[in-house]
Amino acid sequence: MTDPQTIPSAPARIVVAVDGPAGSGKSSVSMRVARARRFGYLDTGAAYRALAWHVLKRDVDPADEGAVLAAAEDFDYAISLDPDDRWVRVGGVDVTAAVRRPEVSTAVSAVARIPAVRHALTTLFRVLIAASPADGVVVEGRDITTVVAPDASVRILLTAAPEVRARRRSAELDTEDAATVADALHRRDASDATVVDFLTAAPGVVVVDSTELDFDQTVDAVLGVISAELNTQTGAHNGR
Ligand code: C5P
Repeated sequence: MTDPQTIPSAPARIVVAVDGPAGSGKSSVSMRVARARRFGYLDTGAAYRALAWHVLKRDVDPADEGAVLAAAEDFDYAISLDPDDRWVRVGGVDVTAAVRRPEVSTAVSAVARIPAVRHALTTLFRVLIAASPADGVVVEGRDITTVVAPDASVRILLTAAPEVRARRRSAELDTEDAATVADALHRRDASDATVVDFLTAAPGVVVVDSTELDFDQTVDAVLGVISAELNTQTGAHNGR
């Protein structure tokens, strides 16, 4: 597989990188922000989820690295970057809703910890970012500010207190009780955190803590960071 370090990671367009844990609101906030700025929107977690879905579909154990990599050979993935027309497809099958199912959420961390999977998907994300037709693209995930697009124009870590994240996630999933959702979310975070540190801001990354903010306030806070960062960069270019 191609080494992502060899792929250029600085396309000319504006890239807004947003990282954060599950339930921080990063998907819904990033999508709204993309709409507000008329940017594209790339949900990188969807690719890890789609691969986990593909692996489960083939009755492969997500913890069996060799079998996952064999199944990944014919992983035919496509995603829309249009925040107003979102879809995820595997082999032409629409899996937009299926990848959100609890069994996929449970399997995804095992798939995401395989280095060759991360390399291949990082390469794919950089290609998708470079091909995005909009003036800018909001890219969200766990390692966007640090690995996928470390030279992004704007880099944000969106956080929230663990109990707030669990409450938000259980409100999204009305099929399961709150305690089960909270437990699954904390397990996934703990597992993911051993692979990527998405709870600490890397140098130059702006933290937006949404614990005390509602959805609209969080969107406004992120839009504010984007404007401030871009203004600073324009000022620097103009010698101000
Ligand atoms: O963001 P979301 O919760 O949909 O991500 C699903 C999973 O994909 C995460 O739990 C993590 O295992 C993986 N992921 C990742 N790196 C990213 C995005 C997601 O490892 N950039």
